Amino acid sequence: MSEKAVHIGNIAVTRLEEIYGPSFPAGMLLPSWDASVRDDFGPATIAQFVQPDTNLALMSIHTWVVRTPQSTILVDTCNGNHKERAMEDMSMLNTDWLERLVAGGVQPEEVDAVVCTHIHLDHVGWNTSLVDGEWVPTFPNAKYFVNKTEYEFWNPSVTDQTGLEFNANVFDDSMLPVFDRGLVELWDGGGCQVDDSLRLELKPGHTPGHCIGWLESNGQVGLLSGDSMHSAVQVYRPDWNSGFCLDADEAVASRRSVLEAAVERNAVLMPAHFSAPHAFHVRETQTGFAVTDAL
Ligand SMILES: [Zn+2]
Repeated sequence: MSEKAVHIGNIAVTRLEEIYGPSFPAGMLLPSWDASVRDDFGPATIAQFVQPDTNLALMSIHTWVVRTPQSTILVDTCNGNHKERAMEDMSMLNTDWLERLVAGGVQPEEVDAVVCTHIHLDHVGWNTSLVDGEWVPTFPNAKYFVNKTEYEFWNPSVTDQTGLEFNANVFDDSMLPVFDRGLVELWDGGGCQVDDSLRLELKPGHTPGHCIGWLESNGQVGLLSGDSMHSAVQVYRPDWNSGFCLDADEAVASRRSVLEAAVERNAVLMPAHFSAPHAFHVRETQTGFAVTDAL
């Protein structure tokens, strides 16, 4: 966690990266991808989002470590270690994410809350760690906040998982061990206050119970937007979904409302996967929105 913190009033937010670099082909991450966006943005701008020679989208997988006056909160916990995954690039990882969290001054026992914006493999992995062959909560004193609809959607004993095989094993190894120990706080569609500074709001579409987090302190506002968008291209093209959005119309509506709210409240936007800049403001344009004031 060597990166400089983003300050929202009395709240400090630091990015803890697990993976960074070229990932999916641009047309797979964004099925509406059209090479003409290169002409619209110019080669220098687009090169921030998509590697010019390979056409692979540049992405980061990171956790936002949020320190409010009251609590230490992790927003999304990346892929985790030693987990068997259907997506090969994310399977059986062995990174030093946890060591770097500790080196940045956060002991696992000190984490008060873990927010799962949704239950995809790259957002809940470090919820648990493998100890003596058993998955145990990595943050034993934390409350893990998950929307109730989201939890039930990915629970194989409640919802048929046919068609959702890309996310296989995730519920069983990263949610259930936490739930069984009584650490999961399921919240309903009306939203949820994690502490005085962080409020969760449902923004479905990417998944049925996907949420965002509003940070507020001393009149300043931050917006942890989760996977309501995956690439800065979607700031400029808010109607372009990712290839992983489950409800296309809902995902577009949520993305637009997130961007509109960010403009209206002059919020620092902090998505879960953007390549640099990772935190920025947005402004409205004639055709959509634009990234501005990178932090
Ligand atoms: Zn994600």
